[in-house]
Amino acid sequence: MSKAFTIDLGATSAKCAFFEDEKVIKTFVYKTIDKTNLLENIAKKTYEIAKENNIDMNDLDFVGVAVCGIVDNETGTVIYSTNLGWKNYPTRKELISLFGNENIIVLNDAKAATYGEWAASLNREPDSMALFTIGTGVGGGAIFNRKLVFGDNTGLPSEPGHGGGFQNQFQCDCGLIGCLDPVSSATGIERRLREVGSTSTGPLGKIYADLKENIHIIDVADLFINGDPEITKIFEENLEPLAKCISVLIHFFDLSMVVIGGGPSNLGEPFLNIIKEKLKSYVLPDFYSKIRINKSNLGDLVGAWGVYKYGLDHIINKK
Ligand SMILES: [Zn+2]
Repeated sequence: MSKAFTIDLGATSAKCAFFEDEKVIKTFVYKTIDKTNLLENIAKKTYEIAKENNIDMNDLDFVGVAVCGIVDNETGTVIYSTNLGWKNYPTRKELISLFGNENIIVLNDAKAATYGEWAASLNREPDSMALFTIGTGVGGGAIFNRKLVFGDNTGLPSEPGHGGGFQNQFQCDCGLIGCLDPVSSATGIERRLREVGSTSTGPLGKIYADLKENIHIIDVADLFINGDPEITKIFEENLEPLAKCISVLIHFFDLSMVVIGGGPSNLGEPFLNIIKEKLKSYVLPDFYSKIRINKSNLGDLVGAWGVYKYGLDHIINKK
């Protein structure tokens, strides 16, 4: 028997799940707009939900959290999370006291998603892969030789959104010039939708006239899927820096799979096809013919699954 509770802690919501023997037995979502005493409030809610569902919190083998921020995996400290307003936040310590459980997993959310996709959805195949998650920024994670990559020097990978000089239009919030984050993220794509929409005389212009600055990718999803040329061009241009970054990784590490997750990946094949088409120009045929570019399969629960599987492998099965 393995029982666990996991939290995928994001800027606007925490997706929480109870697991028992490789099955999700109960999920709930906690809104995280108000960040005061966040973990304490989530813990309170968790105890309530557990009671309503006859789940004994004392039976849990471990509690885990995936956090949108940079995590020191050794100490379980969140070094930095802009979205949560945390700096050097002793997350593991806090969770030990809130849940009365010494077995705590703290992972970066994109690393958790990578592990979830690999261990839960792909059945631990292939041996090496990378995952990119496109949202507010561009996050990522990698499995190399069947292990989640934590780096060898700083312990701070994987940050595919930053560095590399893949574009020359924007300075990134991180301070560097040329990061792909401000262009290929959902935020970057939406910024461009507003820019183009404000002067467009096509369908995008009509949507812009209604929604103005509130235009989001979801609002143009149908047009995109039906191949609207103006919107397609925006996606093509904005995904270019991401494709360049992926191509470098493919050549360097000879990965066999790249998984794309995050909100825009729900646009499905037409979205993946843009990335695949771009890669054709940037990847040598020998690599291109073998690489698999997939969409993330676990949807909203990918982070929760990642933390659960990581806990199973690193706490339960190590005992
Ligand atoms: Zn950056």
